[in-house]
Amino acid sequence: MISQWVIPVPLLPDEIISSWLVRAALIQGCDPLVLTGSVWPKLRIWTRDTDRFFDDESIDPLCAVSGIPKQEFATSTLYSVACQIADGNLPVKASWPWMLTLGARNTKRRSGLQYCPVCLGEDSTPYYRLQWRYAWHVCCEKHGCALYDRCNTCNAPVEPHRLLAEDQQVSVCATCKTDLRKAIPTSCATNALDFQREADRVVLQGQGECLGKTIDVHHWFDLASFFTSLIRRASRSNNTILIDFVHRLGVKLPEGLAVIPGAGIEMLRIQGRQKFLESLYPLMMVGQEQFELALKESGIATQTLCEKGKALPERLLEMASSLPDKSRIRTRKQVCKLSGPRPRHEVMRMMARLQHKLEMAKR
Ligand SMILES: [Zn+2]
Ligand SMILES: [Zn+2]
Repeated sequence: MISQWVIPVPLLPDEIISSWLVRAALIQGCDPLVLTGSVWPKLRIWTRDTDRFFDDESIDPLCAVSGIPKQEFATSTLYSVACQIADGNLPVKASWPWMLTLGARNTKRRSGLQYCPVCLGEDSTPYYRLQWRYAWHVCCEKHGCALYDRCNTCNAPVEPHRLLAEDQQVSVCATCKTDLRKAIPTSCATNALDFQREADRVVLQGQGECLGKTIDVHHWFDLASFFTSLIRRASRSNNTILIDFVHRLGVKLPEGLAVIPGAGIEMLRIQGRQKFLESLYPLMMVGQEQFELALKESGIATQTLCEKGKALPERLLEMASSLPDKSRIRTRKQVCKLSGPRPRHEVMRMMARLQHKLEMAKR
């Protein structure tokens, strides 16, 4: 295939497609919005998450102008890894599990793209990596520093698609034009980096170990999601049995967790995810014997272990089958709650949702 552009722009190692699109525009001397408008005249692609592209309608016009084959683009989007994690059930509009959400409104973003200032600084051509959109990536393994998810100067989200031709490099902040490579590297939490390494290994090998058994990528991340929600519940709960249970598993509960709208780790900013991964790592590493002992000795009931309306991950079903069932007590409690005030965390969440909306409206 031959490129129709004056200057052909090859994809760089692990480059994410949105980074390549912006680079391609800047190299041709035009604004990213102008280039994408000419490739897809009928689509306003920056109002969507371009890194989730996988359909022919989106990719074919790009192959035609760039001369890059479809298979190469396939490795530069989130689709294949997200597909493994979600076992093929990827919603068109809702967030994808373990992939950071952009919170896009028109062409503005709330968050979702991270960077390592040292990596960008060492690149002969700075570019954004695919891995920086994974929710479990909070550190740069190569440089041992924490990633950034905002501009270090003006705190705006990283939005390279809003750059202009004269900005020339994708490593410039689209809002204040600061060079993101100048951000000072900070240290990264050890357990969070260990979790990141383990999750990367699971994705690469297509399987992982958990509670003494080998499970596939989907079930491993499903368990990690379940444990994430267990950590969140335990850290905001007064339920001493639940807290005792997680302590028995060697988990130190995170403090000062950000209150976020929705429940997913995919929407959290980097500091919040780092805290979760710190607590999550020992949970994912716990042995079957220790887990079963903690279930038994804490006296935890099925309803405390698993939130109402949620299913237990497959790996836990058998182990939890002998737990006491207190469903009747719980039902009665819930009926009483309906007439009372909303719990504090719910009010905080509503407030956070409102603040997000105001923040977006101001931008
Ligand atoms: Zn780096
Ligand atoms: Zn800035």
